[in-house]
Amino acid sequence: MKRARNFNAGPAALPLEVLQRAQNEWLNIEDSGMSVMELSHRSSEFEKIHNHAIQSLKDLMEIPENYEVLLLQGGASLQFSMIPMNILKDGKRADYVLTGSWSEKALKEAKKVGETAVVASSKDEQYTFIPKVEDIKLNDDAAYLHITSNNTIYGTQWKDFPETGNNIPLVADMSSDILSKKIDISKFGIIYAGAQKNLGPSGITVVIIRKDLITDNDKIPSMMNYSIHSKNNSLYNTPPTLAIYLLSLVLDWAKEQGGVEKIAEINEEKAKVIYDAIDGSDGFYKGHALPDSRSLMNVTFTLPSKEAEVQFLKEVKQAGFVGLNGHRSIGGCRASIYNAVPLSHCQDLADFMKKFQESYKATEAQTL
Ligand code: PMP
Repeated sequence: MKRARNFNAGPAALPLEVLQRAQNEWLNIEDSGMSVMELSHRSSEFEKIHNHAIQSLKDLMEIPENYEVLLLQGGASLQFSMIPMNILKDGKRADYVLTGSWSEKALKEAKKVGETAVVASSKDEQYTFIPKVEDIKLNDDAAYLHITSNNTIYGTQWKDFPETGNNIPLVADMSSDILSKKIDISKFGIIYAGAQKNLGPSGITVVIIRKDLITDNDKIPSMMNYSIHSKNNSLYNTPPTLAIYLLSLVLDWAKEQGGVEKIAEINEEKAKVIYDAIDGSDGFYKGHALPDSRSLMNVTFTLPSKEAEVQFLKEVKQAGFVGLNGHRSIGGCRASIYNAVPLSHCQDLADFMKKFQESYKATEAQTL
């Protein structure tokens, strides 16, 4: 069977085992005689799947009792608005750290809701690094501090997180690195992530929220109101049942891999293989991120010239690798190596990079 070596940034590679299990259960789920898409979202069969997904996430991420897991719609992008609408109270300001396009977008939406401030940024340096935690000075009246834990487009990732204390909740967009490594949930007020990178297909957004941040407010539209979703176990309206089912299978798969710690070990190894290819290339490949800010999920790099890059992207595609073009906003190349991308695919890519470098240099030498 043909399976691509898929380095897409999201939607991205899913574990083959998950797809096979979904295929086996496609026509008859839980002995219901129906496909999961035909089940009522109020049925006991679906409720079991839904609650299993939530419980699996709690188990895998060791989510403490005083947090709730919500499964919402509208992508991570809707959270850019929902967060300030729900927790940016009058007289307070929302602090943002800018580390890339997604943080900028999050800030843009918060500005429509209330007062905001930028407390650190690497924009002037083309977002090549994550600001140092000790350089972030929070405003006294901060309602929360927002960060993007992994910058999908620029390929940078936070290694340690600011200590904000309970009064200023730390809010993190973890769309592109949730479940990729162990994190201490108690440091955060809200964690949110679109599922389409490490958790499953698109269409579902996970929100992990400290319970005291969920407060009643009738002024907020119901679909954007954490309290309403919480009171209804994320079943206020019809959820994307197929996406939730696939999320539950991906989480089962993650447990079978040995959980987050084991996955993190493999992720380190995968990223090292590709960064080694960059670092060992005598400057032929150049990483966008500064070494101490490098992402283990999105490896971004450029080649010595536009021509070399075009040639590389053409040949890498011909060789059966998918999704290596950099984001349209910055160009270059990007290998997204989320949890479901096997180590062997990263090794294959590193080998390809070495071979391409040799052949490109040989051709160049001939034409000189
Ligand atoms: N935040 C980050 C870090 C992302 O990578 C993305 C999407 N690639 C988004 C937010 C937006 O997510 P969505 O498309 O699910 O709204």
